Amino acid sequence: MDVKCRRLEGKVAVVTASTQGIGLAIAERLGLEGAAVVISSRKKKNVDEAVEGLRAKGVTVVGAVCHVSVAEQRKSLIDTAVKNFGHIDIIVSNAAANPSVDNILEMKGPVLDKLWEINVKASILLLQDAAAHLRKGSSVILISSITGYNPEPALSMYGVTKTALFGLTKALAAEMGPNTRVNCIAPGFVPTNFARFLTTNETLKNELIDRSTLKRLGAVEDMAAAAAFLASDDASFITAETIVVAGGTRSRL
Ligand code: NAP
Repeated sequence: MDVKCRRLEGKVAVVTASTQGIGLAIAERLGLEGAAVVISSRKKKNVDEAVEGLRAKGVTVVGAVCHVSVAEQRKSLIDTAVKNFGHIDIIVSNAAANPSVDNILEMKGPVLDKLWEINVKASILLLQDAAAHLRKGSSVILISSITGYNPEPALSMYGVTKTALFGLTKALAAEMGPNTRVNCIAPGFVPTNFARFLTTNETLKNELIDRSTLKRLGAVEDMAAAAAFLASDDASFITAETIVVAGGTRSRL
């Protein structure tokens, strides 16, 4: 990543689900812009490898194991940030699951619970733990999805949980202002492990590319750039907003 600006000097960032894909790219970008970063995910091996990779790029980073639906691990993630860096300025809630491609009316109760638990409730509970440590001028970023605007088959209930994040952004922005801004990013399709069932099928992939005005899939760096902007003081008058980063793929009006 070739990053020239240092907008986040002195800030401390916590990013969930950040050992690969969009979360890792966000952690890297925030770090290269000067933030001290706390990365996390479920598997210690992934956390250790990602910490090592980011340090090799000059990022000030520590790692914590955090499955976002485990209360003690959420607390330990926040504790890790506070113990190492004293406070928190940026939280990126990036974890999500899409455990089933079933239609909503066929979806089993435990699958519905898992979707709400990881995609929505865990963000709220993490912010409850973090709130007391957030400094004036802090920034919360929720990672939603373009499917939140149009929950389509195979992504339908997942999409509905992402729709909920648009509302959550507005509600939390009202609760957490004026000291903390709360915004949301709605990525288009990005060829990560999470989206491999869409982006490794050539026909589907070409259809997704065709849907975008810029005629390409997203890159993790596109999402990282939007997150760095929202986290920075360049976005100091922006709150309760969702930025769609999807190359012009149809979303809201
Ligand atoms: P990814 O490349 O598959 O990365 C997933 C990351 O999350 C890994 O670091 C994984 O590490 C971690 N993780 C998975 N489950 C977790 C959990 N329960 N708690 C904590 N960490 C967990 O995924 P991605 O595509 O970057 O997706 C990131 C976010 O972007 C998600 O919110 C997704 O909905 C959103 N998004 C993605 C796309 C896309 O096309 N890729 C489009 C729109 C929105 P471990 O295995 O070690 O836990």
